[in-house]
Amino acid sequence: MADLRHSQGLVALSKKDQNITKFMKLLESIPVTLSTHFPRKHLLAVSGLSTALLVTLMFTPEEAAHGARVNATPLVAAPADIIVQQPQQMLDAPPVLADIVVPPSVPQWTDMEVQSGDNLSAIFSKVGLTAQDMYRVLNSTDEAKVLNRLYPGYQLSFYIPEAGKLTQLKVLKSPLEGYLFTRIDDGYQVESITRTADVKTSFKEGVINDSLFMAAKRADIPAVSIMEMADIFGGVIDFILDPRDGDTFSLLYEEKYLDGEFIGNGDIVAAQFTNQGKQFIAVRYINEDGEVGYYSPDGESMRKAFLRTPLDVFRISSNFSLNRKHPILNTIRAHKGTDYAAPKGTPVRATSDGVVTWAARNGSFGKLVVLQHRGQFETKYAHLNDYASGIKKGVRVRQGQIIGYVGQTGGATGPHLHYEFLIGGVHKDPRTIVDQLPQAISLEPEELPRFRAQTQDLVSRFRQQSVDSRLLSLNAANDQNLPAH
Ligand SMILES: [Zn+2]
Repeated sequence: MADLRHSQGLVALSKKDQNITKFMKLLESIPVTLSTHFPRKHLLAVSGLSTALLVTLMFTPEEAAHGARVNATPLVAAPADIIVQQPQQMLDAPPVLADIVVPPSVPQWTDMEVQSGDNLSAIFSKVGLTAQDMYRVLNSTDEAKVLNRLYPGYQLSFYIPEAGKLTQLKVLKSPLEGYLFTRIDDGYQVESITRTADVKTSFKEGVINDSLFMAAKRADIPAVSIMEMADIFGGVIDFILDPRDGDTFSLLYEEKYLDGEFIGNGDIVAAQFTNQGKQFIAVRYINEDGEVGYYSPDGESMRKAFLRTPLDVFRISSNFSLNRKHPILNTIRAHKGTDYAAPKGTPVRATSDGVVTWAARNGSFGKLVVLQHRGQFETKYAHLNDYASGIKKGVRVRQGQIIGYVGQTGGATGPHLHYEFLIGGVHKDPRTIVDQLPQAISLEPEELPRFRAQTQDLVSRFRQQSVDSRLLSLNAANDQNLPAH
């Protein structure tokens, strides 16, 4: 059994789960191949570190806190932890009076999942309770305030043994966290519910022969995990321009279970992407302070000074062919940037932390954003349809932050992003320059033993699994080639 089973502490369901549905709609139709207008000969060359750019790269997942928590899989709120107590003497008594022993009544729990637009009084009235019943709970304890801030996906379970009498109310913010209110006298007492998910890891791999997203779908890889993978490798692979048919990738990621029931996907534990013959491996490492980061097997952070692509690869609208040759692209070979053809409105991200030094129209650039980064680095984003809200001169931006949207303002005849990269005022090819930049922070030498202890076994198992499943698929292919008889 290759599963690495272990339990983790309380794991709240990730908020990124809510992006799944949105994302799945895009899955079908995002081709990844795009023509590029620069030679890619240096693409694979990772040269030595040149200057001393200091970028503090804390790994903070982009999908930080906003919006409500939504469970990917609605929990069927089984009141498994509510045990019907039978009087002891009844169990001990000889079963002579069988006709008198009444079977314990099955508790009548009513489960409600909070939907968008629901409010508490409507929910109470649906289960036959009055506003007075509601206020009795609301006024009972501080914890009852949770009921004033219901989010879609919250699970409410009512135990109403006789009409109108709310004896217990279970409020689950996630399958792992919530409260149980139990009627006492004229009020309610409360206890916290905290549960720990069983975590097991799942290994999946895919081969690109159309797009990364189709490949992930075929391999039954959750959308949220493939997005996370693209995020992890965002500093080494341009997921718009780099992927090619035949590229392979594999993921070891966590799945969370409660009482044997799947409740959601967790983090990526290790990932591999082989792009045009070059293999990248990233492995999760949790340091002593509990900070999570992804590193190469040698302990080099996967977080780089610059993202490879300024486009938000997951928001490129469907039914747009990235293969489409745009007229403007034929004329720009000699110019000083990379052009990404993309539909109007596609979000554009800051490729590194920096300060906005320009956010206004500028001749043939149209609506232009210029960012100044630490060191002598500058990036430009032209032909924007619009700036993201709050983007103006003097504002600080973080790597990955949305700064504007693709358009065709200025001298563009079709929607595309024109992206420039300058060092000390000199234009560099953004497709190759990032290989020559100083790399992001690696682990300190004294941290390496701890890092190895945590990841070495994982990396080798991960590699082994890659080999095993390659052999398996090889065997499967061979089996199919056997002559039928
Ligand atoms: Zn251009």
